[in-house]
Amino acid sequence: MDKNQLPTVIIGAGPIGLAAAAHLCKRKVPFLILEAGNQIAHNVKSWRHVSMFSPWEYNLDHASIDILEAYEWEKPVDHEVPTGAELIEKYLLPLSETKEIKPHLRLNSHVLAISRRRINKIKNYSRERAPFVLRVQTPHATVVIHARAVIDASGTWHNPNPSGADGLPAIGENNLTNKIFYGIPDILGKDEKKYKNRSVAVIGSGHSAINALLELSDLQQKSPNSKLCWILTKAKVEDAYGGLDADELPGRGKVGMRIKELVDSGNISVHLPYFVEEFETTKDQVVIKGYQNNTNEHVLTDQVIVATGLRPDVSFLRELRVSLDYALECPQKLASLIDPNIHRCGSVAPHGEAELRHPEKDFYIVGMKSYGRAPTFLLATGYEQVRSVVAAIAGDWEAARNVKLSLPESGVCGVPKAVDPNFLEFDRSDEFENA
Ligand SMILES: Cc1cc2nc3c(=O)[nH]c(=O)nc-3n(C[C@H](O)[C@H](O)[C@H](O)COP(=O)(O)OP(=O)(O)OC[C@H]3O[C@@H](n4cnc5c(N)ncnc54)[C@H](O)[C@@H]3O)c2cc1C
Repeated sequence: MDKNQLPTVIIGAGPIGLAAAAHLCKRKVPFLILEAGNQIAHNVKSWRHVSMFSPWEYNLDHASIDILEAYEWEKPVDHEVPTGAELIEKYLLPLSETKEIKPHLRLNSHVLAISRRRINKIKNYSRERAPFVLRVQTPHATVVIHARAVIDASGTWHNPNPSGADGLPAIGENNLTNKIFYGIPDILGKDEKKYKNRSVAVIGSGHSAINALLELSDLQQKSPNSKLCWILTKAKVEDAYGGLDADELPGRGKVGMRIKELVDSGNISVHLPYFVEEFETTKDQVVIKGYQNNTNEHVLTDQVIVATGLRPDVSFLRELRVSLDYALECPQKLASLIDPNIHRCGSVAPHGEAELRHPEKDFYIVGMKSYGRAPTFLLATGYEQVRSVVAAIAGDWEAARNVKLSLPESGVCGVPKAVDPNFLEFDRSDEFENA
């Protein structure tokens, strides 16, 4: 089997996987996209009802625009801010349907494991000459696909953090099933019934938690018996608001201003700094047990929404020689550039192939997953990552090294403020909360 005749396999047809495909196409490198879902952008679809915080000008990839402009595609207006649904309908779906991408896209193809053909993780001999072997679950069978290089753009959306401030599921959390939701439910759409006239506790302080609270507050207008509670580990609620009207991304600033208004109006009962430790279920309700200001504090609620961030699934990479940071679980060389203790979304230095490289040659983790547990990933960063990685795969090392990035300055994904020693113990768990 001649490795060089094989395609480069991209795992995941989200925004970054599709951009990688566009760059491979531009460089005439054969490729295949394997997508677990039954349609492209399967993860974005889960938050289709949510407004993004960055406008179109930061959400489009240049190689993808080049492909789309050869068709009757209407480029969205730069300064407008799309929802997840619009990102799919106005950009990702048209891109995936072009003749440059569609023939190379395999839906319902879930990558279960990756290795080198007939060489396990321990063996050095001939390692770099051996093709990659991907075990893939399709609706009909488990199949094997060989690849010259692999780009893992599988995201982190399906691997949410649990509610425990220590990163572990709170005691009883795994038994809550229909009383707990991870992420941003479609509160004003298909999930309305579940939240209408209920008490709901939202745990987390990032963009996802705030979005859930804003939608719950909209629902409260027509369901006056609803009660909202916001549980966060931050020492001060102001630290969750982000850049407000000084935010370079108006969409993100607006979200901060709305939540501030809501808190100021007294419509939300805020618990902070609060550390969830245990859930107990009564006949109809959930008792959240935790610590607030070092005393035991219980919160009684009908429903719980957990939006405490995401973490990467690296289990299917077990047979590869990947080098991940021990804290962030991102490619090791990237860690110091994206450490949320130090960086805002907009202060991340340009980076590319060199920072994303692993001991396993020709294997890369890109996109949301490349940030591991750090919450600061932006699409514009991922587009530059795949431009550089694909240049390297194509052998254009000069282009691979020449990374450039211009990002909007920060807001909700800001650095923890200078730490008041009295709150030192409280501030630590903010590090990985979702933006
Ligand atoms: C609510 C929300 C709002 C956001 N707003 C913004 C914003 O305004 N601006 C911004 O720049 N960023 C934003 N982000 C962050 C980020 O840009 C998005 O999360 C983006 O979707 C990440 O793209 P991705 O391609 O890396 O991963 P994903 O979009 O998560 O795509 C991964 C794909 O891989 C597939 N997959 C997963 N596992 C496998 C497997 N084993 N085999 C095959 N396929 C697999 C999934 O089905 C999915 O289609 C937002 C994120 C969220 C959650």
